[in-house]
Amino acid sequence: TCTLMWFRRDLRIHDNTALAAAARQGPVVAVFLRSVAHWQRHGHGANKLDFWHRGVVALGESLAGLGIPLLHRDIEDFDEAPATLLGIARHLGAYALHFNCEYPLDEQRRDEAVVDAFKEAGLTATGHHDSVAFAPGELLTRKGDYYGVFTPFARAWHRQLTAPRLTLRETPPVQTLTEVTRDPAPPLPPLADTPVGAGRWPAGEAAAADRLERFLRFRARRYASQRDFPGIAGTSELSPYLALGMISHRQCLQAALAENDGSLAEGDAGLTAWVNELVWREFYQHVAAGFPRVCRHRAFQRHTEALAWRDDEAGFRAWCDGRTGYPIVDAAMRQLVRTGWMHNRLRMIAAMFLSKHLLIDWRRGEAFFLRHLVDGEFCANNGGWQWAASTGTDAAPYFRIFNPTTQSRRFDAEGRLIAEYVPELAGLSPRDRHAPSDIQRSATGYPPPIVEHKAARSRALEAFKALPASR
Ligand code: FAD
Repeated sequence: TCTLMWFRRDLRIHDNTALAAAARQGPVVAVFLRSVAHWQRHGHGANKLDFWHRGVVALGESLAGLGIPLLHRDIEDFDEAPATLLGIARHLGAYALHFNCEYPLDEQRRDEAVVDAFKEAGLTATGHHDSVAFAPGELLTRKGDYYGVFTPFARAWHRQLTAPRLTLRETPPVQTLTEVTRDPAPPLPPLADTPVGAGRWPAGEAAAADRLERFLRFRARRYASQRDFPGIAGTSELSPYLALGMISHRQCLQAALAENDGSLAEGDAGLTAWVNELVWREFYQHVAAGFPRVCRHRAFQRHTEALAWRDDEAGFRAWCDGRTGYPIVDAAMRQLVRTGWMHNRLRMIAAMFLSKHLLIDWRRGEAFFLRHLVDGEFCANNGGWQWAASTGTDAAPYFRIFNPTTQSRRFDAEGRLIAEYVPELAGLSPRDRHAPSDIQRSATGYPPPIVEHKAARSRALEAFKALPASR
């Protein structure tokens, strides 16, 4: 007999709560259920699916090193998860299944169905809290509500954090379980888009650990002053790895603690700023669990549901294609489509441009990001989009609309990013790259601005002012 471990977005053998719990019960057999069709229906694109696939292949190798076989099953939809997992359990004579919880609504429902099916069959399926320091519901306001604002959430997070919450889970010992053999990982079926591939984003735990190490060594102490500048490689670039659990938040926070004399809240400005971003990540997971309407394509701020978004297909296409005539926005969008990645400052600029200057429904932008991002992750993506569109928690006040040209001069002062991704402007002086003249545009074939900043700003302000009061 054996215990089953169901891997999902926790593709690592080290510091894995559910895997450690499974291994404490005896020999483990690991399972990965794949539904490419389901993930595509939920908007995940080729970059993410390819990275995920490579991560699962790497996981299979790591597990083999521990003597844990990984079984692969392809399903059409996650509705089939209970029956598929029960089938494996019965076939192997396993009486227990372990998995790490995920907090968006669909994932919670999927997991509840599995837990119920196992219970009915007289077996157990146990979800473990693993991807966050505090499970949703553990950090609440004085009134007992989920936090809808980041700063008090972060204060509570720091105040209530105790060492055991960050204790690394034990890696399972090498086991001998001869009767079950691992499956070869099935290849990824052909996808509509070509993924950016392994060059920039090698998958797996070792690659993630290496990235963390390099971040701490070369970037972390300058993080506070450099993180906002897209032309500088100043951040960890760990988000794809955190999104699929190739590294854990505990491993990141333990590393920060070790580098910062045992403190997460005080000390080195770079390290504490970085920890703050990890708390943002956790905050948005709590938001998804505590306000499930955001998982149903709804605005966090209910009154913004009435906003008169514009139906502007040509504007949306120009934004997607990086041809808005605003060089920083276009550089951002071309970076996304070409590399599967976008710097956080650019995500804010591009998202605000779509939702404010073009007044196009943020949900269209959210979906486009998810389709291209290698780190596409529902909670952070939805949180970031609702922030930019002023419909979310902690949202940017609707009247604070970024001027893309000012942002460009401030955060890409030398126009480096523009030169890289909008090559038709590379020949201009760094100063001119932010806002080329009409003559420069016609000489280079770069389009005129799709909207005029001031007019677009006024249009957005009017649309927000027309909303019913928030309470
Ligand atoms: P670092 O600056 O090194 O930060 C460390 C980690 O903290 C990140 O890897 C990430 O896990 C987390 N983090 C950082 N910033 C945020 C944030 N604002 N919200 C939540 N977590 C954060 N992040 C995603 O992981 N997936 C997404 O799909 C995603 N979509 C976004 C969409 C928009 C419109 C915006 C404004 C932000 C989005 N973010 C998303 C957040 C952020 O842009 C990325 O996490 C960050 O750019 C990743 O780079 P890094 O790993 O170098 O981050």
